Amino acid sequence: MSIARVEPLTTARALRGPFDYLIPERLAEIGVGTVLEVPFGHRRIPGVVVELAETSDVPPGKLAEPVRVLGTATTPELIELGAWIAREYCSTPARGLGLMLPPGTGTGGQRTRARIETMNRITPDGREAIEDGSRLGTRQAGALRSLLEGEMTGKAIFQRAGADSSTLKRLAARGLIEREQIRVRRRPGSAVVGTAAIEAPALTGDQSAAVKRLNAALQAGQSEEYLLAGVTGSGKTEVYLAAVEQALALGRTAIVLVPEIGLTPQAVGRFEARLGDRVAVLHSALSAGQRYDEWQRLRSGEATVCVGPRSAVFAPVENLGLIVVDEEHDPSYKQESDPRYDARSVARRRATENEALLVLGTATPRPETWQELERIELPDRVDGLCMPPVEVIDMREADPRVGPIHPGTLKALEQVRAEGGKAIVMINRRGFAPWLICRTCGQHWGCPNCDVSLIVHRESGQLICHHCNHAETLPRQCGDCGGTTLAQTGAGTQRIERLLVEAMAPMEVFRLDADTSSGPGGHGRVLGAFDRSTSAILVGTQMVAKGHDFPEVTLSVILDADATLRFPDFRAEERTFSLVTQLAGRSGRGAAGGRVIVQTLAPQAASIKAAAEHDSPGFLAGELERRLLLGYPPYSSLIRIQLAAEDEAAVDRAAAIVADRVAAALPDEASLLGPAPMFRARNRFRRRLLIKSTAREQTVAAVHSETEAMLLDKVFRGIVLSIDVDPQ
Ligand code: ADP
Ligand code: ZN
Repeated sequence: MSIARVEPLTTARALRGPFDYLIPERLAEIGVGTVLEVPFGHRRIPGVVVELAETSDVPPGKLAEPVRVLGTATTPELIELGAWIAREYCSTPARGLGLMLPPGTGTGGQRTRARIETMNRITPDGREAIEDGSRLGTRQAGALRSLLEGEMTGKAIFQRAGADSSTLKRLAARGLIEREQIRVRRRPGSAVVGTAAIEAPALTGDQSAAVKRLNAALQAGQSEEYLLAGVTGSGKTEVYLAAVEQALALGRTAIVLVPEIGLTPQAVGRFEARLGDRVAVLHSALSAGQRYDEWQRLRSGEATVCVGPRSAVFAPVENLGLIVVDEEHDPSYKQESDPRYDARSVARRRATENEALLVLGTATPRPETWQELERIELPDRVDGLCMPPVEVIDMREADPRVGPIHPGTLKALEQVRAEGGKAIVMINRRGFAPWLICRTCGQHWGCPNCDVSLIVHRESGQLICHHCNHAETLPRQCGDCGGTTLAQTGAGTQRIERLLVEAMAPMEVFRLDADTSSGPGGHGRVLGAFDRSTSAILVGTQMVAKGHDFPEVTLSVILDADATLRFPDFRAEERTFSLVTQLAGRSGRGAAGGRVIVQTLAPQAASIKAAAEHDSPGFLAGELERRLLLGYPPYSSLIRIQLAAEDEAAVDRAAAIVADRVAAALPDEASLLGPAPMFRARNRFRRRLLIKSTAREQTVAAVHSETEAMLLDKVFRGIVLSIDVDPQ
């Protein structure tokens, strides 16, 4: 007897498998990873085979057979990984496994399939028939003549010669053409922006040394983990490329993770340009068909390198030899919805399981990575360029009338203008102004659904909530007192853009934020325009600090650099340090050199001082000391439990129960803080619990099983509960 143990791909909590099905002769190809349609009660549901067995506890007469196979199977390795994710991140098997399947599987809606087209090709008999000129209708002759230029689809022939498929079928029946069904690849648009060097440059000494160590690790074929700590502009991408080529030369496959494809089109472009068709790109801006085809190319082994954002860590490659995580500090590696996995941890797991090499690269490592991984350093920029000097401007001393851009900063920008150069200005807040206030009565406009203020968006003439997207028309009058003097205070990207357009003409000003870059290729559009301009300023949110490489940029400015420090989060210092350092890193990447200006109200903050001195090791040492003192990661693991409901009393009741029961289930090495209130969002009251533990595995398991059991209780009806392991 052959039994398939099948996990149903549904989110219903009660439907927890695996369930046994009898494999009939006709479905003998079923293996671990096969996606099936199975009968379940009176329904048919999709499920995935997680195990094969010889026997079942279900009596043979009661075993049902699967209905059919759906799509391409994933690999047994990924099935195991899906189960691990469900455990490690307190999710469900269906959600964990769902990440591993061909795009468009088991979502209940339309399934994605391969695109099949019929290709037509002329035969020698067909050529002869044209020369004879005999016994051919006009359409038939036209079709044959078109095919003299090469093989073609039916559609192309119809457009040229008006011959439809019945004509083609008749030609085929007479042996004048051959017809063949082929799979047509839906190719993602190339991400190449600007000039992508195809030839590898001669590596610098540091790059060569790094490549040598990575190659040795690849040759050894054991799982090893390295941090490639290279300053901005040190040429890390060339090191990754060399390692990928080495892995491929050894007959293995590779995955390269990048933060967000839209923001780093250059990085992807360089991989495509160098490695060609061996690269498959997986990201959310692809159409369903493109994603499906890229997945299939990886699964079949036609593509051996996958480049993409966090979900690319699930690329269905076999014989994995290398995983690179570029800009490993980037918060986008954490998924913020269930399953809340961290692609960096998943990469570590996959590398270990496959005896593959893991390389995490960045100029601003996370304290965790710095502490745990062996380091390979690239201390200098390529071409011996210097790190740009950083000036810190203390905005506490500035005249309050100067506005958001300090005169010293304006002067530096004017110098860039005089030189006909380029600058980047970051303000990490979109919109025009973060507050609208009535000057007469002092009331300020808040979101009706969330306890936050509404942001002034002048372009659309609206007040918008950045949490729930609630929007209302920008008022001209105070609803409370009728006052007409309304102040738009504070600055966001739109205001800075406007100020710069006025002050810096005729320089072009481009704005990069979520509002200007929505839609596929949005970021590329803005970045491309900035790239092509001869003299321009790029203004934007943290998007402008990501790994762009524009050699003509000679000035980076960060306004309100301590904005991120004001978040009540133990990672605030780390975030601020990396943001300032990364932005500084965009400046002076060309022969003209560069400078950096940091405007801040907190010039004494450790993160800002260290960033100004380009002192990563110093910052990390201090930060690790602080973490040790407070018992934060990497010296503990954190788990956050969040509850939300429209009824405040209900959420309090539920939070108290969770706190009691989870606390009782925790091992001694763990402690629970809270419940603490959070600001109301999307019309829901929220409470948060935080668990700190030095016994990670046990603690996660305890939280997982305890909450699963609780959720079936009716006290939890109407409560949204989420668990975040390793929250950001
Ligand atoms: P990082 O990611 O470390 O900030 P990049 O990989 O973006 O740095 O490299 C910075 C620039 O230096 C790129 O334009 C790249 O093409 C160039 N570069 C890298 N290595 C070399 C080299 N060995 N010789 C010349 N140019 C190089
Ligand atoms: Zn809101």
